[in-house]
Amino acid sequence: MDYQALAELLYPSVQHDCDYYEAKYPERNLPEGAKVLRFAPSPTGYLHLGGVYQVMCDERLAHLSGGVFMLRIEDTDSKRELADGIRVITDGISKFGIQIDEGMTPDGEKGAYGPYRQSQRAEIYHTFAKKLVAEGKAYPCFCNEERLSAMRAEQEAKKVNPGYYGEYAACRDLSLEEVKAHLDNGDKFVLRFRACPTGERPEFTDCVRGRIDVPENDVDMVLIKSDGIPVYHFAHVVDDHLMRTTHVVRGEEWLATLPLHVQLFDAMGWKRPEYIHTATIMKIDNGGKRKLSKRKDPEAAVEYFFTEGYPREALIDYLLMLLNSNYEEWRAANPDASYEAFPYSVEKMSNSGCLFDFNKLYDISKNVISRMDAKTAYASSTLWSANYDAEWHSLFTADPEKAIAILSIGRGGEKPRKDIGLWKELPAYAGFFFEERFDPDYSPLLGYDKADVEKVLAEYSALYQPEDDQTTWFGRIKELAVSLGYAPDTKTWKKNKESYKGHAGDVSMFLRVAVTGRTNSPDLCEVMRILGKEKVAERLEKAASYIKEKE
Ligand code: GLU
Repeated sequence: MDYQALAELLYPSVQHDCDYYEAKYPERNLPEGAKVLRFAPSPTGYLHLGGVYQVMCDERLAHLSGGVFMLRIEDTDSKRELADGIRVITDGISKFGIQIDEGMTPDGEKGAYGPYRQSQRAEIYHTFAKKLVAEGKAYPCFCNEERLSAMRAEQEAKKVNPGYYGEYAACRDLSLEEVKAHLDNGDKFVLRFRACPTGERPEFTDCVRGRIDVPENDVDMVLIKSDGIPVYHFAHVVDDHLMRTTHVVRGEEWLATLPLHVQLFDAMGWKRPEYIHTATIMKIDNGGKRKLSKRKDPEAAVEYFFTEGYPREALIDYLLMLLNSNYEEWRAANPDASYEAFPYSVEKMSNSGCLFDFNKLYDISKNVISRMDAKTAYASSTLWSANYDAEWHSLFTADPEKAIAILSIGRGGEKPRKDIGLWKELPAYAGFFFEERFDPDYSPLLGYDKADVEKVLAEYSALYQPEDDQTTWFGRIKELAVSLGYAPDTKTWKKNKESYKGHAGDVSMFLRVAVTGRTNSPDLCEVMRILGKEKVAERLEKAASYIKEKE
């Protein structure tokens, strides 16, 4: 067989040869040890949590080594493509604050190793497919669906392995004339790889999983479909070679076809990249473990976490904790450091399953939010509200100084308060500061002596001095409490309960309920200071008229 002639026959319009592309996309000029990684999703209009898990690994390995992080779009399956599919991915990655060095970026396509959309690389794939044909390593197959179903049925009946191989590979040895006749007839062909099994299992080492024992591929797999578009296997090999990818981080579902990829790299005469196959993210459901499902679990899409108001720092911490076994310990020792300071390494990647734990993420998020200074918390929360709660956003940002003062309560110090786990919780936590959201529940006041409550609400306004420090502020409440027959503190009250109506804490509860409309609130002294003397007086009056109405 004249393979060269076959190659010309199949790909007459290919313009360049392989050397042209090898020269166009040369080895990268990067420092020793620099890693080149890519995230290569399909533009399905959806960024899966498992995808960001890979992105974090790609990005850390690339940037810590002085290398490159690329975004390549695998859009060869037009059925799955959505109009804004690419934007959803670039936006999603940007929301993590992650920089895409090359490929499809939020500012468009950039880099010297493109195009970075597979749909635009047909000419490149055909060039390399032509080379394989010319070397007798790939051939056209004209079998139609009917013929293939008959083959499958026969294989099933005989209980042999399914697939196009050996005696079933009807087109493997077509003559040049037969191919010509098919083409003249307008028959469509797929290009198949001519698998030449050696009978030996391929030597294969995954950077994280170690030695992987997989059977050799003996099937003549399709490389290019009848519409001229490559399948993943071929595109992966060509793209990762020409883009000079050093490490491929991808889902473990690709382990099954790894033997084919190995054969393809060998057939091309190319060095394989290092592989890191990541574990599928699982969740506990009904006592058992299952894959995070796009259909059933809203949290499968990263957008969900942004909608909920998880700060990106929390998501990054959580993902890194899943990825590197020593991250949690490092974070505990370096609570305020940027995750970028963590010495991320392939060696510390876990090769066991990856279980998604909402409670853990929520705890991390609470921690992260509690450790932010008020200005950072303001920026982080308004980033959320700008996108997901416009009404709250305009209320909260109308007076940034007030908003920052609200967020300052309980911050700083050894043990910052952990009131908020998600920014979505902020409106409920801080809504009472705003008249528009002040929806008081005064009913707890009815549980106390009515005359006392009335007296406190009536007298406190005159006593309140915004410039008082905590101690003086509480001192005044104590005095008022004592004058009404309450103990100055719980200790005194506990010793001699019969002698008192209650303790100063009860009196401050009257004030808390009146001023905040609830029994649980951030530090009341701070709350009053932010509201101001006038507003405090107004709220006490409002509560007093509620009590009156109850007469
Ligand atoms: N497009 C493939 C996927 O989404 C990419 C796998 C890879 O990273 O090589 O699974």
